[in-house]
Amino acid sequence: MKYFLIGATLILAMLGLVFYGSRMHTACIISLLLALGTGALFTTYLNRQYIKNIQIQDRIRQRLSADVAHELRTPISALSANLEAILEGAMQASPERIEACYQQVQRLGSLVADMERLATAESDVQRLKKEPVDLLAFVQETFPEASGPSLVVPIDKQRMQQVLINLKNNGEKHGNGVTSVTLSDSGKVAEIRVSDQGPGIADKDLPYIFERFYRADQSRNRASGTAGLGLTIVKTIVEAHGGKVKAESETGKGSCFIITLPKN
Ligand code: ADP
Repeated sequence: MKYFLIGATLILAMLGLVFYGSRMHTACIISLLLALGTGALFTTYLNRQYIKNIQIQDRIRQRLSADVAHELRTPISALSANLEAILEGAMQASPERIEACYQQVQRLGSLVADMERLATAESDVQRLKKEPVDLLAFVQETFPEASGPSLVVPIDKQRMQQVLINLKNNGEKHGNGVTSVTLSDSGKVAEIRVSDQGPGIADKDLPYIFERFYRADQSRNRASGTAGLGLTIVKTIVEAHGGKVKAESETGKGSCFIITLPKN
């Protein structure tokens, strides 16, 4: 639409000039009026796009606040119920009770740490410290079993290490451990595949696992204290490098996370 309007404005304006040169004044005036009209339409279109973008940003911000409040509510409620009961003398401050409170504090701590990592990943998009790195040697620092050709790829080592750590942690938490990591050269991009043979991810969940706070098995993962931010951080960092990440999975047979990174 944008290019159509720019093109139409330019063509009509040029026709106006051609007709002016050839002294066909009526045709010249009509062309110039049409060019002005198309230009006005183009400006309106740009304004609408701008307003739409602001509305989308606003909705994202509102949803984030609601999500964060929702995630904080559970551990805070559990913590305050336990502490209130102890203070009122309805419960003993037994080691088990204190341990339960401590678990909730730990959970809050890990949620805040994940949110900080995501904030850093998002703000670092413009400030990546990329350098040419031997990808295989780099991946082997996190996954010694990794195999594949030697490829030099420009990456921010610190940020990309966060990506590998998150996939390794997920493999352990959700996939009974990572079973293979392979690198390959696919023309303009390098590919890293991280696979496990765990329970896999259901088709209904697969499209959403990279979304903020999404957990495929809500009750089990909520109880285990996972925040649902690990893959959002992975996606943010990989895309900041101009790359892509996707997951392939078959229930009962395991999952494979595939990262592609531009080689230059
Ligand atoms: P978290 O691990 O904190 O729950 P993530 O964003 O890292 O959050 O992952 C989102 C969800 O995707 C997880 O809760 C889990 O349900 C699913 N998932 C991620 N990695 C795997 C895996 N290797 N095997 C099965 N499910 C996975």
